[in-house]
Amino acid sequence: MAIILPDLPYPKDALEPTISSKTLDFHYGKHHNAYVVNTNKLIEGTALEGEELETIIMKAAEDPSKAGIFNNAAQVWNHSFYWKCMAPGGGGKPTGEILDRIESDFGGYEKFVEAFKTAGATQFGSGWAWLVEAGGALEIVKTANADTPIVRGLKPLLTVDVWEHAYYLDYQNRRPDYLTAFVEKLINWDFVNKNLAL
Ligand code: MN
Repeated sequence: MAIILPDLPYPKDALEPTISSKTLDFHYGKHHNAYVVNTNKLIEGTALEGEELETIIMKAAEDPSKAGIFNNAAQVWNHSFYWKCMAPGGGGKPTGEILDRIESDFGGYEKFVEAFKTAGATQFGSGWAWLVEAGGALEIVKTANADTPIVRGLKPLLTVDVWEHAYYLDYQNRRPDYLTAFVEKLINWDFVNKNLAL
């Protein structure tokens, strides 16, 4: 079965004004779609054709000759996860299990916010900042380009895309402003709590 572009979990204008429908037109409709199209082209006729996306990512990560497949397939996964990390009316201090864990592992919500935003702001060039669970503890990690924590045995709970294509139309070079808006207005904590419970 071919890799598919999943539907966005909300209409393209649902995150306005924090993220514009124009950004989602390009980011989802062009960038994410291109990663799907490229992945399918690259696996066609290979042993990876017909495999699950996660399997393709894991196998390509172990084989330097499959870097092109890894980059495209991991970007498909990362983006599908990223859309679900946001919701209209989201953001702010969470509730539920994730709040308890953030308080115990980071020393408070404000300290988590500072660390998460710093990770996103200091990822040099393109990449992602993540909240993950590793060995029973929450951690913040950043990954470059298409790299994804799932190949390191980490459990992703939340991510923010810090490639310029994620924010440039709305925030130009002001990545820290995009990160602040993401934390204050977009994070889908219900999704994060669900991931934590998996
Ligand atoms: Mn992106």
